[in-house]
Amino acid sequence: MSEDKIGMGHGAGGEVMSNLIAETILNNISKKSVDGGVSLDDLDDGATIPLGDYEIVITTDGHTINPLFFPGGDIGRISAAGTINDVSVMGAKPLAITNAMIIREGFPIDDLDKIMKSLDETCREADVAVIAGDTKVMEHDKIDELVIVTTGIGIAKKGEIVRDSTLNVGDKIIVTGTLGDHGMSLMSFREGMEFETDLTSDVAPVWNMIKEAIDLKAITAMKDPTRGGFANAINEMAKKSGVGVLLNQEDIPIKKEVHAASEMLGIDPYEVANEGKVVMGVKAELADKVLEIIKKNKYGRDAAIIGEVIEGEHVLIETPVGGQRILESPIADPVPRVC
Ligand code: MG
Repeated sequence: MSEDKIGMGHGAGGEVMSNLIAETILNNISKKSVDGGVSLDDLDDGATIPLGDYEIVITTDGHTINPLFFPGGDIGRISAAGTINDVSVMGAKPLAITNAMIIREGFPIDDLDKIMKSLDETCREADVAVIAGDTKVMEHDKIDELVIVTTGIGIAKKGEIVRDSTLNVGDKIIVTGTLGDHGMSLMSFREGMEFETDLTSDVAPVWNMIKEAIDLKAITAMKDPTRGGFANAINEMAKKSGVGVLLNQEDIPIKKEVHAASEMLGIDPYEVANEGKVVMGVKAELADKVLEIIKKNKYGRDAAIIGEVIEGEHVLIETPVGGQRILESPIADPVPRVC
């Protein structure tokens, strides 16, 4: 791909995409926040608009996943969960989403019906309403099947928004479950390996899992590790916070099947998307309590404390043999069209 055209890497949630956003998108927008709320420039999971004693949280997400139906989910579930989760990791109660669909001429109405039922079921899990939408059709050779764009709206009390840039030295790092499930199951499915593995996507709304922990006011920073995976999320949190992170490899939960698929496919499970997980910094003295709360939820059973925030500028992993390596941010998510 020539350098003056968009390539797949420009949408792959790594450094290539960050550069495009900084140089071509943010540069062209003049007003990027309202009344001192979280702004477009912050590139957090959502933005906020302060309103009296509250802050409204808004986030938007376009979904181009391929294939539309995959083990553990479909584009309807991911369109609802992805947006609900970006609102949730801002520390805000998700209230509603909007749903805009661009559909290819010839698309089966039965499939659209299944996708809508799945989107609705996912919203119901988090008590989220679908309050507006748009439906467009394009000629069969102009678009690939179906693209869904969802916008999420949530609410938090003023001062209780959780950012991704506020880790403090001494905080413990918690992940709410096994890493790499979504990206690795999707890639295995695409490669025709679905009969060799029962790996499924983790796509799920995380609000019910984390709401009690948010109420404890123990979470210092939070992010959902979607495109670019855990490696991207933890590096972004550390960099924005101006701190280092030290992780213990043996404590990081990864399924055996994910390890196996990652070795077969040559893909790093830390660099692929998760769609039902949260990475959080937690006050050290409340870390065990938060872990206990999260583990009570069905999506948080495999949650673990995996390390801590330290002074420095790198994310380091302590390996089982006692060495340390730097966990870098990926250039791009190795699995394209993952969400
Ligand atoms: Mg996010």
